[in-house]
Amino acid sequence: MLQAINEQGKCIIPAIMSANEIKQFKKTFEMFFCPVCKEQVRLRLGTKRIPHFSHISRADCPNHVGGEGIDHEQGKLQLFNWLKKQGYVVDLEVYLKPIKQRADLLMNYGSRMVAIEYQCAKITTQEIIKRTKGYQSVGITPIWILGSSQMNRQGKAILKLTSTLQHYLHQYPSNDFARLLFYCPHTHNIAFFDLVSFVTSYRALGEFCFLKLSQLQFSHLFKQGVIDPIPNQWLIEKKKFRLSSPKIGYSSEQAFYQWLYLNQLHPSQLSSWVGLPVSGQWLIKGSVWEWQARLCYDFFNKQVNFTDQELAHFAKPYFQSSRDYPLILKDVNPIRTYLNYFIMSDLITCNGNYYKLTKQIGRYKCVEQSLYNDQRLHIKLKRDMRSQM
Ligand SMILES: [Zn+2]
Repeated sequence: MLQAINEQGKCIIPAIMSANEIKQFKKTFEMFFCPVCKEQVRLRLGTKRIPHFSHISRADCPNHVGGEGIDHEQGKLQLFNWLKKQGYVVDLEVYLKPIKQRADLLMNYGSRMVAIEYQCAKITTQEIIKRTKGYQSVGITPIWILGSSQMNRQGKAILKLTSTLQHYLHQYPSNDFARLLFYCPHTHNIAFFDLVSFVTSYRALGEFCFLKLSQLQFSHLFKQGVIDPIPNQWLIEKKKFRLSSPKIGYSSEQAFYQWLYLNQLHPSQLSSWVGLPVSGQWLIKGSVWEWQARLCYDFFNKQVNFTDQELAHFAKPYFQSSRDYPLILKDVNPIRTYLNYFIMSDLITCNGNYYKLTKQIGRYKCVEQSLYNDQRLHIKLKRDMRSQM
């Protein structure tokens, strides 16, 4: 922990004090106490870590958070200083008794209270949800900033996101895309990742942006620039899928390839309408290729005329059973987003609650034909989206 109470009851943060001031503590044998459990704590000075305190005897104090390490302390302090510099009223390591949680940073932002969690250690999905909801239950907006060691980048626009990490995605009602934040205390870089769509269950395609903390205002964490909803990188991913062969051992994938086989289909033959980027893919089981293929061939083609309810009923088994994403504050519906592509192109017409497919969704004879058409549809949808904006 970075702060403690001295004998006069004053809050002390040695990490932001001068070497001389700290020397004084040693001379006067000043004693320090934990702000939460009031037990005595020890001031720790060393060359490797920034000055901090640790409990002498108790490890069961809620203010004692184990396993976070040096990066966590450094990053937390840097974020604290960054907010202070911008004139915010911000407190470090605040224990919130009613919810029994300790926020790394707690600040006032307009009329809101915001808790910042700088999370370097891996925690479980249940823990993320519990802590997020804990803050929300007392009217505090939580913001999670992940340690850069949790960023598993797999290409210019690709991030590997396990189902646990997906629960850190933030989406405010004013944002079109869900976002993850990372901070590295060594480079002082904040990384934004704005998610466009998942390609497979864990492969996320989006836009990265790296900025020095000093160039950034706190309010930027909520703001989103113009992001291409159909990035060109998507076509590369689509081509990869078309040319891929089934991976043995993934049971959900095997079931999909079996379905393709039974329908005398191969990834290279699927219509270009299968596999379009959508927001909210995290709510769905399996990849975009799978549910969109089934929707096209098993529902749109067979049903032709359908209602919202019928579509929702068909899509239901494809949704995750648990849809607990308390940081997603926008109402996202990937099926609806997908349907909109068809409506935009008049392939499906819409009359109130009634929909009609105007032309059967076909298949291609060879991979050259499909790659060519993927590209054409990509350009067309991009143009249509732009004209709608
Ligand atoms: Zn304590």
